[in-house]
Amino acid sequence: MLIKSAEFVVSNSRVEKCPTTGLPEYAFIGRSNVGKSSLINMLTGRKGLAMTSQKPGKTQLINHFIINKEWHLVDLPGYGYARLSKDGRDGLRRMIEDYVLERRELVCLFVLLDARLEPQKIDLEFIEWLGEESVPFALVFTKADKLSKGKLSANISAYKDRLLEGWEELPPLFITSSEERTGREELLNYIEGINNT
Ligand code: GDP
Repeated sequence: MLIKSAEFVVSNSRVEKCPTTGLPEYAFIGRSNVGKSSLINMLTGRKGLAMTSQKPGKTQLINHFIINKEWHLVDLPGYGYARLSKDGRDGLRRMIEDYVLERRELVCLFVLLDARLEPQKIDLEFIEWLGEESVPFALVFTKADKLSKGKLSANISAYKDRLLEGWEELPPLFITSSEERTGREELLNYIEGINNT
C-alpha cells in the first residue's frame, strides 16, 4: 500500500466521541516504550505523525489518524503504566476496554510486543482477554534489529508455544523494526488486503 496522505483527526477519552464516518479502523496498542510511536511513524512515513499523540495529555487518549482518506489508524494508550495511580490505571483500562469491545469500526487490533523480551504476563493476559472476547487481533513484534536472528526466532517460538498452550490457532504475526523499516510492507499489505475484501 502506498501512503498518499496521513493526517491527525482527533483525540478522545470516550469511544462514543470517536469519528462517525464509518471508515474501517486499525488500532495499535502495547506497553509504553514498546516502540508504538516509532512503528506508526515508520508505517505512515510521517516522522512526526505519532508525535501528535505523544504530546502531554494525549498519550492517555484514543488518537485517530486518517490514512489515504480511506481508513483510520488509531493510536491507543499504552497499558501497564506503573507510574499511574490505581484510579488512573482503572480509568485507562476502562477506556481501552470500551473502545476494543464497542467500536464497531475496529477491523484489527495490532498488539505490539518487544521482540527482545520473553512472554510478559501483562501482554499474555491482554492477549488472552482479546481471545475470550473474540476481538480480531494480530501480534507485532518490535525492535527486531536489536537481537540476533537466532535469538529473535527463539523468542518468537517461545511466544507461539505459550499461545498454543491455550489455543489451537495462532493469530497473524508480524516482525518489525522501525529502525530498519522491516515489516512495513507486510503490515500495510495486510491492512490493504482486508480493506479490499
Ligand atoms: P512508545 O512509547 O511505545 O511509543 O515507544 P517509542 O516509539 O517512543 O520507542 C521507545 C524507544 O525505543 C525509543 O528510544 C525508540 O528510539 C526505540 N525504538 C523504537 N522502535 C525501535 C526499533 O525498531 N529499533 C530500535 N533499535 N529501537 C527502537
